[in-house]
Amino acid sequence: MEISLFYPGVQPDYHVYEALQIFGDAGIVLALHPDSDNLLIRVTGDNGAVLELTPPDPAVTDNKELVRYLYCRISEFTGYRSPWGCLTGVRPTKIVNQLLAASRSRSEVRDELTGFYCARPVKAKLALTTAANQKAFLAEQAADPSRIGIYIGIPFCPTRCVYCSFTSNSIEKYRGRVDEYLRLLRAEMEAVAALVREQSLKLESVYIGGGTPTSLSEPQFARLIDDAAELFTSRSAYLREFSVEAGRPDSITAGKLTAMRAAGVNRISINPQTMNDATLELIGRRHTAEDTLRAFELARAQGFDNINADIICGLPGEYFGMFSHTLDVLETLAPESVTVHTLSVKRAADLKRDSRRELLRSNVTGRMVGSACRRLTTRGLRPYYMYRQKNMLGNHENVSYCLPGHESPYNIHIMEEDQTILALGAGGVSKRVTPGVIRRAFNVKSVEEYLARSTEMAARKRALFEEAERNGTT
Ligand code: SF4
Repeated sequence: MEISLFYPGVQPDYHVYEALQIFGDAGIVLALHPDSDNLLIRVTGDNGAVLELTPPDPAVTDNKELVRYLYCRISEFTGYRSPWGCLTGVRPTKIVNQLLAASRSRSEVRDELTGFYCARPVKAKLALTTAANQKAFLAEQAADPSRIGIYIGIPFCPTRCVYCSFTSNSIEKYRGRVDEYLRLLRAEMEAVAALVREQSLKLESVYIGGGTPTSLSEPQFARLIDDAAELFTSRSAYLREFSVEAGRPDSITAGKLTAMRAAGVNRISINPQTMNDATLELIGRRHTAEDTLRAFELARAQGFDNINADIICGLPGEYFGMFSHTLDVLETLAPESVTVHTLSVKRAADLKRDSRRELLRSNVTGRMVGSACRRLTTRGLRPYYMYRQKNMLGNHENVSYCLPGHESPYNIHIMEEDQTILALGAGGVSKRVTPGVIRRAFNVKSVEEYLARSTEMAARKRALFEEAERNGTT
């Protein structure tokens, strides 16, 4: 089945493209064509049936309305209904929070999600519950906008996972340049620490991610953690979170855990993704389920009491029973938070075409997503932040669940875009949030470029503040 999109006079904005990509999950290919006889969309079915849509009359000028019009008509024609209806974009809870802030009641917001956006009631409920669990964090930030977060990126991993969409490079390839990277990263930390002092910013969280920070050697890793502690966390009277993404279980050692404990790291992620070895091999993780058990044991022995575990619904070759097995093992490990991802297939360039077709088993993925939600909430975990990506299997979402009191403020604020986040290292994206305006500064992505131009990166962040001052929106 193919959707052809034409440009009758006006060029639809990216929301329209996003709305059409919803149907990618139903196996529909999107093709773009130049302007043609006032035709907006032609959907050609595999059975030869054709749906042709002209622009709505009277012309819909609001993109939200146009997206809804297209979604509803194509949905009727194909019989495909997305769980989130025609809701596009990365942050469903941001829409919910905006509606609630505009004095809409919970039932009005639910009705808008299920009515206007055609989302399933279960998704509307999930978004509302997640928003409710964020409420206190958003209120605190609104009361004191000088609170900020820091992100430090380590763009190296032991191997590349087939679905990876992050800045990640082979640690083996860059082994000889990691010391140089850490030296320049420390210089960027010093410059940002000075900016934090000058601007009287209140540092609430430091998040070290990547990549896989624990792919560094023990001495390099200890140096990184000590630098972050010396320049940021030990200097802040407002610190609530010092997180480290210890993602690959096989890269976690007792020595690295000791370095984190000594420096005051209070939240780590150990990410199994799945507890099935055959899948781990298929997705290029190069570790085993046993490595996850060992990493949890080591971390618990050292007293870590806030551990997150990432898992993925819809991994290649996984049927429902395999996913249930992952949840069974996680129950025995009892992480304080579990982030349930839905596989995003577009990025899975290494997956063969046939595998991709096989992956589009939205019913299975939907059952996995629903089962994770039920089992985790039964254990007392609550959804507290969520986001969506393009090309997610079954058009579902990523949700993090945690026991009350184990929320990561950093993750809430980065998703809701209500807090200034200063990002360091290759691939970091800083956001300066002021009322009604978000300004961004991008660090270069490639390691080589970062090594050559790292001093520019701190200057870019400083410029964010100077621009805000010039515009009177500090
Ligand atoms: S561990 Fe994360 S950052 Fe590294 S390759 Fe896998 S998905 Fe990418």
